[in-house]
Amino acid sequence: MNALTEPNIDPADLRPAEPLRIPPEIHGISTASIHPGALEVLHRLDEAGFQACLVGGCVRDLLLGREPKDFDVATDALPEQVRRLFRSARIIGRRFRLVHVRHGRDIIEVATFRAPHHVAEDEAQALVEENGRILRDNVYGTLETDVWRRDFTINALYYDIRDHSILDFTGGMTDLAEGRLRLLGDPATRYREDPVRMLRAVRFATKLGFRLDPDAEAAIHELHPLITEVSPARLFEEVLKLMHGGCALQTFEALRHYGLFGHLFPAAEAHLNGPDGEAFGSLINAALANTDRRIAAGQPVTPAFLVAVLLWGPVRARAAELEAHEGMPPIPALQEAAQAVLHAQQRSISIPRRFTLPAREIWALQLRLPRTSGKRPLRLLSHPRFRAGYDFLCLRAQSAEPELAELCQWWTDFQQQAGLPAASAPEARTEGGERSRRRRRPRRRKPRSGQ
Ligand code: ATP
Ligand code: MG
Repeated sequence: MNALTEPNIDPADLRPAEPLRIPPEIHGISTASIHPGALEVLHRLDEAGFQACLVGGCVRDLLLGREPKDFDVATDALPEQVRRLFRSARIIGRRFRLVHVRHGRDIIEVATFRAPHHVAEDEAQALVEENGRILRDNVYGTLETDVWRRDFTINALYYDIRDHSILDFTGGMTDLAEGRLRLLGDPATRYREDPVRMLRAVRFATKLGFRLDPDAEAAIHELHPLITEVSPARLFEEVLKLMHGGCALQTFEALRHYGLFGHLFPAAEAHLNGPDGEAFGSLINAALANTDRRIAAGQPVTPAFLVAVLLWGPVRARAAELEAHEGMPPIPALQEAAQAVLHAQQRSISIPRRFTLPAREIWALQLRLPRTSGKRPLRLLSHPRFRAGYDFLCLRAQSAEPELAELCQWWTDFQQQAGLPAASAPEARTEGGERSRRRRRPRRRKPRSGQ
């Protein structure tokens, strides 16, 4: 590892900084569609004499007429200067220092303009590994230098609060209009700096229905193994964004297409390529389509369900082996298989216990739901994971195991007789750390680069 004196200089950094300035009457973003907290931050910075812009996904989404997930502000004020302007501000992050300004339940993220690393004075500002990975990114610069540190042209548009115009240095407006996803600079270099950009490429192309530039595509086919070098904790966050973004099914297919999925879920990928792969694939397809429908309807979804689905094939196969070769009874075999598969999975993506525990319960319920005699079914109704377990059973029935359809129907009727709400009620998965798409949650910082 060494502090770079001659890092990945993007030729783009050397271009003349002549932006296109698009006035509000042309771009059409109304201040009414901007988060009031973000507006307040922008105005306060402006009044204090600083440059202040909205940047990134919020500008992109506003231009596309979509509702932004979060609002990011970029400024020439240093983190300390920003903090002094707002009572609710907090400086966070080491690799990428920025300021969180709280507004009610929401957080507005304020970042100081960055510069390329060759102007870094020491390792505290910039640190790049020999393989090109950026580990620290705290070299401050100007709006003109900040632009080229961003990932895609459509994410590098700035909304300037001074005259409400949009600044476009990179052709982002044209790409937006033409539905093109283009990385800034050389794709391979940018992926090496931060391999998560490959996942972001898949996510934005799928979510926005944009065409990924051929160069950017080719570089993923070549560099996908780099994703294994990203920390498992960061990958978990990225996987959630990928799978809970409303187009999980398409995303899953794209991740497999580019060879990325196997690095994220190695056991699932191996199982998909094995003898039971087709059945497993159809369960995953049914479950992800269901997740997408729930998100479209504003219903809650939980990562635990996703984990249960994506690892079910390997867990079941391992349990069958333990039963056949070790003579273990089904329940302990399933428990041991779950333990082993989850343990191996944690090497790729660290899934918090609050999600793995309910996933295990969903699996365990698959062995308990077939027992429909006596008092057991009534007791099972009050199991905290009953609805998720039942949902899971029905997905299995609908996809590759039609022989379970009768059992699924039995439970549907039983719940009705017991006076429970309709079986497909939205609260079916409300336990286990789910998030509701309707609720506005204060956002957490996401790492920008490095691991
Ligand atoms: P969304 O919030 O809808 O997922 P976004 O584009 O806003 O999409 P964020 O993670 O919120 O994504 O990041 C905000 C902006 O920061 C991006 O638009 C981009 O300009 C920049 N950015 C984020 N992550 C990276 C990265 N890994 N490399 C380079 N720039 C990044
Ligand atoms: Mg964003």
